[in-house]
Amino acid sequence: MEEHQEDLASLSDLDEKSLLESLTLRFNQNQIYTYIGDILVAVNPFKYLSLYEKEVSEKYKYHEKSSLPPHIFAVADRAYQSMLGRLGTGPKNQCIVISGESGAGKTESTKLLLRQLVELCRANSQLEQQILQVNPLLEAFGNAQTVMNDNSSRFGKYIQLRFQNSSVKGAKINEYLLEKSRVVHQDEGERNFHIFYCMLAGISPHDKEMYGLLEPTQYRYLNGRSIQDDAVQHWSAKFGEVSNAMDMVGFEEQEKVDMMTILAGVLSLGNITFETTDSDALKVTEKCQGWLKATAGQFGVEAEELQRCLTCTMSVARGEAIYRFHNQQQAEDARDSIAKVVYGRVFGWIVSKINELLTHTLDSKVELNEIGILDIFGFENFAVNRFEQLCINLANEQLQYFFNHHIFLMEQNEYKEEGIQWETITFKDNKPILDLFLTKPIGILSLLDEQSNFPQATDGNFVDKLNSKFKANPHYDVVRSHCPLFAIVHYAGKVQYNASGFLEKNRDNIPASIRNLFINSVTPLLSVLFSATISRTGTLMPRRANLQVVDDNFNSTRKQSVGAQFKHSLAVLMEKMFVANPHFVRCIKPNASKLPDLVDRKLVMDQLRYNGLLETIRIRREGFSWRPSFKEFAQRWDPFCIFHVYLLCLHSISCMSILNTTELSGWKCGSSRLFFKYWHQEELARLLERLGKA
Ligand code: ADP
Ligand code: MG
Repeated sequence: MEEHQEDLASLSDLDEKSLLESLTLRFNQNQIYTYIGDILVAVNPFKYLSLYEKEVSEKYKYHEKSSLPPHIFAVADRAYQSMLGRLGTGPKNQCIVISGESGAGKTESTKLLLRQLVELCRANSQLEQQILQVNPLLEAFGNAQTVMNDNSSRFGKYIQLRFQNSSVKGAKINEYLLEKSRVVHQDEGERNFHIFYCMLAGISPHDKEMYGLLEPTQYRYLNGRSIQDDAVQHWSAKFGEVSNAMDMVGFEEQEKVDMMTILAGVLSLGNITFETTDSDALKVTEKCQGWLKATAGQFGVEAEELQRCLTCTMSVARGEAIYRFHNQQQAEDARDSIAKVVYGRVFGWIVSKINELLTHTLDSKVELNEIGILDIFGFENFAVNRFEQLCINLANEQLQYFFNHHIFLMEQNEYKEEGIQWETITFKDNKPILDLFLTKPIGILSLLDEQSNFPQATDGNFVDKLNSKFKANPHYDVVRSHCPLFAIVHYAGKVQYNASGFLEKNRDNIPASIRNLFINSVTPLLSVLFSATISRTGTLMPRRANLQVVDDNFNSTRKQSVGAQFKHSLAVLMEKMFVANPHFVRCIKPNASKLPDLVDRKLVMDQLRYNGLLETIRIRREGFSWRPSFKEFAQRWDPFCIFHVYLLCLHSISCMSILNTTELSGWKCGSSRLFFKYWHQEELARLLERLGKA
């Protein structure tokens, strides 16, 4: 059988069809990885492949890229070696960007990368094991079953591994946009976060009683569904893993107990409903008094006070407390927002505990290099798209921009500056879409903030504002409807958003009364969660005098909106990524049914188009990916100055004359540096090895 191309950038006549053809042919032979230049394309096999065994991992350590079939381990190897400065010079910090739609295999790829990176710097330290073991914990709290993926990450993450020379010294996780709304509502065919099922299936009857937990069918937040018999075993085993991970991370026994109790409280809270009384007031339904008591007990607060927080808003005017009663909807919203904020705090706390564990050995005085891995939700376009989708798609616009910037603009501009002959390549620049979101004072996010600041404003007002400001913008579409709808023409296609709930979600306020309620909780953990401040980066900042409190998210009227926080964390992330050496992994989902050995050609083609892979092929084949200065080239060519090339090479003529004596071809010489195709680096290394031996 003919050898299918492992690097599609070298295909002679490449178009959409031949790209799809090659990927499909390879996939059918279980060759799920393919290079396009130095980008790795990974098609999710949805079945076990013997690709990740110990021998394979060994083989890919310190290998020459072209000597082995494409593999995710090869990406780890290149990132690691680049960080150590073994593959030419360039920024020492590395970032690996993994993209793809939900279920395409991003998180699995992340795990494989981490595993291989840990293998590469193997020193058998405890830290490396800890880095791998925190994952079950993160997934239990941050993942859920969705229509797209049985183990879908409902948060984005950037994992930074920090190295001193060749060994890992610490790690840090940044998390983005946990989908808190899942705690209180799941669409058809979807589930709540794994941890609830783990807990209900995994803990002993005795502990269940202690936490006040009942059968899953009892809970509205779990849609009253039971855990099927065959799943009990699975969840129960997972719970064991989570429990071990918590011990390893260093959770104290009391903290674990508190956490379980709080989660049980979230479930009980969800069952509370409300009814009107003879007066205007609303109260917890008679038949729900038991749930109210249970929740109060689990949260460690007074039932009376909890009821008050649910059924009315307190404000203070001239030193006097004024209570305004909620209507039915407001009471239900208050209930759900408590559940969301509590769950969100628990998640943030877990991440900060993990970070404490993984960074405590770091010595701030030594210089460290980083390899960051970004695993963030792909582009989403559902039947109904909400605030969450808007943020996710903005993140994807930003990543696409980063990708374009790297692949297209940076290279092209430099060739221009260097006076190199090179055909201009046109591509879809998505900067205008980013501007539509991010520009101040009239980008979508600033308008949203502006509207969020008016207590009386509605989601409809917000959309009216958008319509009037952006009706002429080519990336904005006005939607005529009685619902607050609008559409954005994203790089990956048009998405219609439903702005219902945008203002509320963007404000993400929790009333002072609720905060006070929890601060005074007799459950120590809950009290800590609400007296601490979550910093912009998602780390928990204890309110201690010696620590600077970043931003009071509760009382201050200047509290940052969710949109503004997200914008900020994206900006911080981009800053990091723009000064690192990037590696791209593009994950592809072969079919929507999560089945092995099945390729839905249309679905794959859509993804290839979204990903800009075709354009990438074009540029990779024509572009030059390694651009050393004359000096860098000389150092690389003659590291020990044996041939005294170093002195010779400080101008272009001598570099050219040296290169002309080799069999290398296709390189170019600019005014200050040399230009090599991506495969030249390895050819050069081979050449040098031969020279060294001679
Ligand atoms: P994403 O993070 O992109 O949403 P995941 O990484 O969670 O997707 O992958 C979804 C599912 O696909 C996994 O739970 C697993 O069953 C399967 N999968 C992904 N990558 C692989 C792989 N390399 N080998 C086998 N199965 C995989
Ligand atoms: Mg994922």
